Amino acid sequence: MNANELARIAARTRAEALTMIHNASTGHTGGAMSATDILTVLYYDVMNVDPKRPDDPKRDRFFMSKGHSCEPYYAILADRGFFPRSELATFSQAGSRIIGHPNNKVPGVEVCTGALGHGLPVAVGAALGAKRTGQKYKTYVVMGDGEQAEGSVWEAAMAGANYKLDNLFAVVDQNGLQISGPTKNVMALDDLAAKWRAFGWDVCEADGNDMQALLDYFHAEHKQGKPHCLIAHTVKGKGLPFAEGKPEWHHKVPNDEQLQEAYRALGVEEVDFND
Ligand SMILES: [Mg+2]
Repeated sequence: MNANELARIAARTRAEALTMIHNASTGHTGGAMSATDILTVLYYDVMNVDPKRPDDPKRDRFFMSKGHSCEPYYAILADRGFFPRSELATFSQAGSRIIGHPNNKVPGVEVCTGALGHGLPVAVGAALGAKRTGQKYKTYVVMGDGEQAEGSVWEAAMAGANYKLDNLFAVVDQNGLQISGPTKNVMALDDLAAKWRAFGWDVCEADGNDMQALLDYFHAEHKQGKPHCLIAHTVKGKGLPFAEGKPEWHHKVPNDEQLQEAYRALGVEEVDFND
């Protein structure tokens, strides 16, 4: 799929994710918006997944380690046909399986995530499993930059390089902000690419809100013998004029006017989960 088509899907996904948050009066707006382009490229272009066979042994494996940013993930899974779009209207409501973090009762979700630092260790296991059993599937994981302060990320990073998991792709959504403020003030990452390289990974950096840059990265020839890390430079709240780069939008909820402002900025008409 080309970059323009993917950008249109990402705009619609952002509008749907924000509508879910608005309807539920809860959610994680900022990190959802920063990660939407990465999720869109993976699910509409890069990964081999089949909504009709969510348990296909040959499927690529995906783990949304920054699980709080689940709204665009659910919106994309529904749009791809893993479950009915109408279920998005039940987000974060009592009895719904579309809850505030990824839930493995939802078709297409491999494991429950959200306790940070868990996605990469599980992804390392999935990638190692493929190597040991001669399977060709690839494993993808999206982490946050605040999440890089979790010790388990680095245990898994060490293991990934140790086992030469060149079938593993980790993306760090580096939006520079986390729940309690700028990442550099909370737990400074300094040269994050250098840290991943020091742990033995094949590291690239790209604009994580630029579809063409993301396509170029995933379609490039990747080094063999090392796991791959993309430091994706993103903007928290991307696409929402009132939220971009503002830490308080980590889990702020848009009011009616802001939702309409977002639709206009995204070039999307009203969202109806029943159409
Ligand atoms: Mg962040």
